[in-house]
Amino acid sequence: MNYEVVIGLETHVELSTESKIFCSCGGHSAAKEPNDCVCPACSGMPGMLPVMNKRVVELAVTAGLMLNCEISRYTTFDKKNYYYPDLPCAYQITQLNHPICTNGLVSVGKRDIRIKQIHMEEDAGKLVHEGKFSFVDFNRTSVPLIEIVTQPDFRSAEEVVSYLTKLKSMFRSGGISECEEGAMRCDINISVRPEGSEEYGVRTEIKNMSSLEAIEKAIRYESQRHIDAIEFETEELVQETRRFDDVSGKTFAMRNKETEADYRYFPDANIMPIIIDDEWLEQIKSAKPVAIDEKAEAYRNAGISEKEIEMLIGNFKISKLLDDVIALGCNAKDSAAWILTDCAGILRKGGLLLNDLDITPEALSTIIKQVETGKINRAAGRKVLIAVIEDKADPTEFIKKNSLDAKLDENAINAVIEKVIAANEAAVADYKSGKEKALQAIFGSCMRELKGAGDPAVIKSLLEKKLK
Ligand SMILES: [Zn+2]
Repeated sequence: MNYEVVIGLETHVELSTESKIFCSCGGHSAAKEPNDCVCPACSGMPGMLPVMNKRVVELAVTAGLMLNCEISRYTTFDKKNYYYPDLPCAYQITQLNHPICTNGLVSVGKRDIRIKQIHMEEDAGKLVHEGKFSFVDFNRTSVPLIEIVTQPDFRSAEEVVSYLTKLKSMFRSGGISECEEGAMRCDINISVRPEGSEEYGVRTEIKNMSSLEAIEKAIRYESQRHIDAIEFETEELVQETRRFDDVSGKTFAMRNKETEADYRYFPDANIMPIIIDDEWLEQIKSAKPVAIDEKAEAYRNAGISEKEIEMLIGNFKISKLLDDVIALGCNAKDSAAWILTDCAGILRKGGLLLNDLDITPEALSTIIKQVETGKINRAAGRKVLIAVIEDKADPTEFIKKNSLDAKLDENAINAVIEKVIAANEAAVADYKSGKEKALQAIFGSCMRELKGAGDPAVIKSLLEKKLK
C-alpha cells in the first residue's frame, strides 16, 4: 500500500530586537559571558513585573503581514506553567487565547500551507552541563520569540525544507530575525495515512530541530517508522514527543505528549491587553518591507539573474544597499553586479565576506554613475571602488587626484596608439594579414599605456582607424 506523510510545523523564531520582550536587558546576542544580560525581572525575582516591548508587537505583526495573516486588534498574554531550572518564574509568558496573528497562507512551490496562528512569547534560559555540575545561564530568558504554527499541510520533507528556507529569507530581508544558527527552531508533528484517506494517523512530535539537514533526515526516518509500524506491526504507535539523534539518524521517545490542560494556562493579569488600532496598524504596514515574492519579481524584471536574486533575497543588508543605490538613479542590473561581483571580490581578497561590506549607497552610486555615463571606464571604476572599500577614500576626490576622469583628447590617444603600433610590429602585421585576434592584443597594450584613462570604445575606434 502507498502511504502519504502528513506534517505540521511549529517554528520558533528569535526576533531581532535590541532588548528582551518584558525588560530592558539586551538580547542574548549582546551577551559575552553567561548571565551578562540579566535583571531582576528576567531572572524571576519576587515583585518584578513585565513591561511589554512595543517593537516585539510590530515585528510579530510584520511577520503576520508577510504570511498573509489576519492581524488581531485585541491580543493578550497567558501564563504557561511548568517547572524547569532554566525557567526562573516557573511559567512562560505566551499567548493562548488571543494570539497576535491568525489564518495566514504561504505558498511553497505548488502547495499552499495554511498558517493557523502566530503568537508572541518569551524564550527560556539555558542549562550548561559540565562534569558533575550543571549551570544555568539566564541570558536567553525573556528573549522575544514568535511561534508560527501551520496546519498539517506538508506532504514531504522537501516541502518542509523549502518552507523553512522561504521563512528564513523573508525574515532576514524583513529585518525580523537574523535566523542565525539556533535562532530558528522547529517542532515537527508527523503522521502517515494510506494514500487517499481523509483521516489522520497517530501523530508524534519531534522536538527542537534547527538544522535543515537534520530536519529532512528526521522526517524521513520518522515517516518510515510509522509506515513500518502499520504495515508490519513492528511496534504500536502512540502519541508522544520524540527527539532526533543526529549521530544514529533515529528518533527516540522522550515523553508522552502533554496536553493543554497539563500546563494550567491562565491569562497573565500583569500584562494589559494590547489594542492595535488603525493608526498603529497603518504605520506598521507602511514600514513593512516589500514581500519577498514581489521583491524577487521586481529584481527579475530588472534583469537580475536568479542566482543573484537568491543572494539578495537572503540578505537584508545587501538588498537594502542595492535598493538604495537604485533609488539614487543607478541601473538595477549593473548595480547588482557591482555589489555581488566587484564588492564581494574585493572583500574576498581581504579574507572578508559580503556582509562585512561597509560602503554608503551615495559613494557606491557615485562610482556606478561615473561609469554608466562614460566619465570613467569600468576598470577605473573598480580602482575607485577598491580605494573606497579599503581606504575609505572619497570617490570624487580619488577620481580627480588620480586623473581617472581625464577626458583625453584624440591627439593624446592617437599619440599613444602610434607609440603602441611602433612597438608591436609583428601584431600589426598579423592584423593586416587578416588575423582579427591580433587587434585585441594591440588594444590591450593601448589600454595599459593609458593606465585606465579614456573611454575604451573611443580608443578602439581610433585604433581601428589608424590601422586602416
Ligand atoms: Zn532583564
